[in-house]
Amino acid sequence: MPLHHDSFAPLDPGRRVLMGPGPSDMHPRVYQAMGAPLTGHLDPYFIGVMDDTKALLRYVFQTENAMTLAISATGSAGMETCICNLVEPGDEVLICVGGVFGDRMAQMVERHGGRLIRLEGEPGRPFTPEQVRHALDGCRPKVVGLVHAETSTGVLQPLEEIIPVIHEHGALVLVDTVASLGGTPVKVDAWGIDVCYTGSQKCLSAPPGLAPLTLNGRALEAIAARKTPVDSWYMDLSLINAYWDGDRTYHHTAPVSLFYALREALVLIHEEGLENGHRRHAANYEAFRAGIDAMGLAFFVDPPHRAPTINPVLAPEGIDEAAVRSRLLKDYGLELGGGLGALKGKAWRVGLMGQSSQRDHVILCLGALEQALRAEGSEVAESGVSAASAVYAGTGTA
Ligand SMILES: *Cc1c(COP(=O)(O)O)cnc(C)c1O
Repeated sequence: MPLHHDSFAPLDPGRRVLMGPGPSDMHPRVYQAMGAPLTGHLDPYFIGVMDDTKALLRYVFQTENAMTLAISATGSAGMETCICNLVEPGDEVLICVGGVFGDRMAQMVERHGGRLIRLEGEPGRPFTPEQVRHALDGCRPKVVGLVHAETSTGVLQPLEEIIPVIHEHGALVLVDTVASLGGTPVKVDAWGIDVCYTGSQKCLSAPPGLAPLTLNGRALEAIAARKTPVDSWYMDLSLINAYWDGDRTYHHTAPVSLFYALREALVLIHEEGLENGHRRHAANYEAFRAGIDAMGLAFFVDPPHRAPTINPVLAPEGIDEAAVRSRLLKDYGLELGGGLGALKGKAWRVGLMGQSSQRDHVILCLGALEQALRAEGSEVAESGVSAASAVYAGTGTA
């Protein structure tokens, strides 16, 4: 086979500012951590890295759960690990589907033999406790699945009032926090979340490739009571946990450098303080919102239901959203997401997650968007940069 080049240029993607739905920007210390010398995956030093990671994940998930670890694969594998361990063929499972990621959960339930009950959400709105109660009246599911921040729509699902409704009906609560953990409060123990997973590359600002998750005692009992083995060898939590917490039996070769990076990203979150980080995300969202409003652009979601971490902004009539994104990438190295699912071709998805939730990112994004929109022939009402700057001056944050 001939190669498509005679020689290959040195790897150099250039500068990027990542403000899409993930991955997010990484702190220089996280890049540095990835370059540390490789150890074996059973080396005592690396076992210490795993122990630190577990402790730091408990801090971020706000849990004391014994089984807290990270799957060596992306957020979707975290989702599938939870589903294939909890769900046996024939088990009834209710999934609240408000967008692409709720739908992904539903597809996984069916592939693993669960009897799926789909509760469809209304566009741009979270599920209410009444909707869930009504759906649960006619069935008795083992698990109810919810997405905390639905990245395809930008809706934040309030959890505190819905979880007791699910528990009254005897079901386990499974929550996707891939686009929320680290950016907005997720209180696993205080809220009673039974099973929770996330991804390394969104609000945690580590590289993609790891999926932290945590399960409480009720969830572990349900898994222990299975009549059939988990239908995936790689994702069987009892095997994975023997590597994390038992006799450290070899299960797979852990991606050591990714774990270095995740550990460092979690140390950064701990140094800032989880709650300070949440306040930073909220403040940068407020400044961004003021800028978008001033520019005369519209969000997809009404203010009370918005996730501060991921914001779909509707493209004005007649503007090619993809052309704007290409300009932003070419002229500024700035990546925004395109619309996904129902918003395909209609919106930009702007992520304010982890290290990308910064004042300089917000100002760059608003200014660059304004220039790109003008270049594409769109009117811009007022300066988004001025409006956001006024918010920063008034609150003194970030
Ligand atoms: C990104 C995302 C996922 C999938 O994560 P991958 O790392 O892309 O596999 C799942 N759920 C939500 C809410 C997400 O934002």
